[in-house]
Amino acid sequence: MTAKLLDMACRSCGGLRVELFLDLGDQPHCNRLIPPELESEAEPRYPLRVGFCHDCTLVQIDYTIPKEQMFSRYPYVSGTTRTLPAHFADTAARLTQAYGAQAGDLVVDIGSNDGTALKQYRPYGLRLLGVEPAANVAEMAATAGIPTLSRFFNEDTAAYILEPKDPPSS
Ligand SMILES: [Zn+2]
Repeated sequence: MTAKLLDMACRSCGGLRVELFLDLGDQPHCNRLIPPELESEAEPRYPLRVGFCHDCTLVQIDYTIPKEQMFSRYPYVSGTTRTLPAHFADTAARLTQAYGAQAGDLVVDIGSNDGTALKQYRPYGLRLLGVEPAANVAEMAATAGIPTLSRFFNEDTAAYILEPKDPPSS
């Protein structure tokens, strides 16, 4: 059997020897259920191929769904998973101790979803900020009292977090 290399550079090392070992064809985005009012529209499907990098051993997919499509209507909510809050609470305890966090320090969660992880930092008196591009879940976090920027994390967002002036434009 001949190895089939994917037409890509490894996402980690940039190597060009990423071998396809699993091709599941075109698949819908996970968790993206079609609401009844949109059931007549075609469900978007994307290639789902998995490759192995012979240079650094990273296993990876070769196709990236455009982020605007992935996060325009995002159905997954962290807080509905029973075990996640306990896991995030343990993580918050470990990280605040490891980094010597003091009351008033800032914790930023990139891809903060509904704020479930940030809520676990409340007992430590830290300032909290979520960055979440999916407007529907960012609103859930804000409603729960977690300050959240509803946008993608990028250089402009980072600059705004470091020195808030005007809200970032995009
Ligand atoms: Zn690699």
